[in-house]
Amino acid sequence: MPRRAITPLELTEFPPESVTILERWLCLACILDVYTRHLKLSARTARSEIKKYTPTIEEIHPHQLSRPFFEPERPKDRCPHCGSAAKWHARLCIYRIESGKASDGRRRELVKSLTDSFAVVDEKTTRRHAFYEWLEKLSAELDFDAPGWLMEASMHYLGRKEPKVD
Ligand SMILES: [Zn+2]
Repeated sequence: MPRRAITPLELTEFPPESVTILERWLCLACILDVYTRHLKLSARTARSEIKKYTPTIEEIHPHQLSRPFFEPERPKDRCPHCGSAAKWHARLCIYRIESGKASDGRRRELVKSLTDSFAVVDEKTTRRHAFYEWLEKLSAELDFDAPGWLMEASMHYLGRKEPKVD
């Protein structure tokens, strides 16, 4: 099928600490194999099921990548599960926007403006859990051997706590 170009979302108006952008790779050959060989669907039904598919939060959560999801080490790597070539792989771009006073209005506008190339998945969580996830993401970015890490961590924290203040 011809590829439809999808314009990446412009999220610069959101408080930077509320946005996470992830990339996930899906192997369509793996899915087709499960649908046609194991579930005995016709190729046509399998294709229409794949088109209707929307990933769940559990499937895209960074700690739980399992077939048909995978992480290529290099672009054009073969699927680690079935060995299929890159033309079978679909890239999902995931924009995660944390709810908060400074982002909710813009988030609603953004959701209204999206085309059908996008799916919106709501994740319910507690404020504490969201904070720990943010902390985990931040600590992966920081270099604790660099002398300025505490300053950098403080800047990120203030950016999260007071997103409207420079
Ligand atoms: Zn595969």
